[in-house]
Amino acid sequence: MKHPLRSLATRCAHAGSSDAPASENPPFHQAIAQSSLFRLGTSADAEAIFSGERPGHAYSRFGNPTVDQLANTLADLEGGSGALITSSGNAAILCAVTAAMAGRSGPLVTHPGIYGGSFELLKLLSEVYQLQVQSVDPGNSEQWNQSLTSAAAVLLETPSNPLMGLIDIAETVTRAQAGGASVIVDNTVATPYNQQPFKWGADWIIHSTSKFLNGHSDLIGGCVIKREPLTARDRAIHKNLGGTVNAMEAWLAHRGIRTFALRMQQHNLNGQAVFEWLQQRPEVATVHYPGFRDAHQIQIRDKQMTHPGALLSFELKGGLEAASRFLDRLKLIVHAVSLGGMESLATRPAGSSHRGMTPDARQVAGIPDGLIRLSVGTEDISDILEDLAQALETSP
Ligand SMILES: *Cc1c(COP(=O)(O)O)cnc(C)c1O
Repeated sequence: MKHPLRSLATRCAHAGSSDAPASENPPFHQAIAQSSLFRLGTSADAEAIFSGERPGHAYSRFGNPTVDQLANTLADLEGGSGALITSSGNAAILCAVTAAMAGRSGPLVTHPGIYGGSFELLKLLSEVYQLQVQSVDPGNSEQWNQSLTSAAAVLLETPSNPLMGLIDIAETVTRAQAGGASVIVDNTVATPYNQQPFKWGADWIIHSTSKFLNGHSDLIGGCVIKREPLTARDRAIHKNLGGTVNAMEAWLAHRGIRTFALRMQQHNLNGQAVFEWLQQRPEVATVHYPGFRDAHQIQIRDKQMTHPGALLSFELKGGLEAASRFLDRLKLIVHAVSLGGMESLATRPAGSSHRGMTPDARQVAGIPDGLIRLSVGTEDISDILEDLAQALETSP
């Protein structure tokens, strides 16, 4: 944490700059350490580096100066003590779940609203390694609270994807921690601009940096951030699972983060405007946006989010057929998976991100085949609304 008192926008604008003294005439941006290995020096130097007596690097899977710098920036943005950089959001979930469950017994408790890729990963881990996974609806508070008490660890996603359901982080943390379980929050959709889970006591935060944090839809990456200092075991898990990144990838993610706060201001304005516009349209049956379902959801949003954000989903009165027609008619908005890019993106979760779920599991999660998810970009709002309007038109 360089200057925790400076605002997030200021810290983003300066992210990735070199710490070297100005008298050394350093480049403003730290040089990219694109190397798999580092000279160890004398045997005594090597001993000092490997024993941890002196900071240093040996091999880039274990650590790399460019990657370390990205870790510092991400830990700082979330207010954590340390971060581990991973090759994808899924690798971050694997790493965080492994670290949070190490030495614990009992199930990993999660809920049906987690990202489709996370659902597939946990299913795989339970089939291959017999990881116990318990997926409970947080709306069923009695069962949810009971599971939290006996959990080995908890994985939360709020807002949930794609239905934008909210879970009270502070309440979940209090119950989980009473039973000794750590809580991992996937903060990819909310981003640290709109929600700071460590404020509410979460132990771990994971991100897919492929989304809003990088923001340019040009790389895949992730990170695991810890509220408490990282232990030697946490670092050993990260290094041995192997989902680490090259310096160039870390540098690119860092470059994206420099405009993160600026982009989020526009994403938030556009997200709110699209939500309000869709609600007025006669073709639209339901719009899902954080904190708009009922009084309890509004209360959670007002407590833990500074803004509902730029991701929403909606159903058309014409169902699947109308949804396919809408996607086929889009001209500006891109029919593609993923979210958080500067370009607006539309997808049909049942046919893409949530395809790995069985139709039954999708029904439990409440994802109809005609649901459309929209990641509202940073384009001029009138262009976004014009495209939505022409795509919704029923005459050819
Ligand atoms: C995309 C995403 C992930 C997975 O990230 P990848 O970078 O694609 O591996 C995890 N959680 C959420 C909420 C996501 O949107």
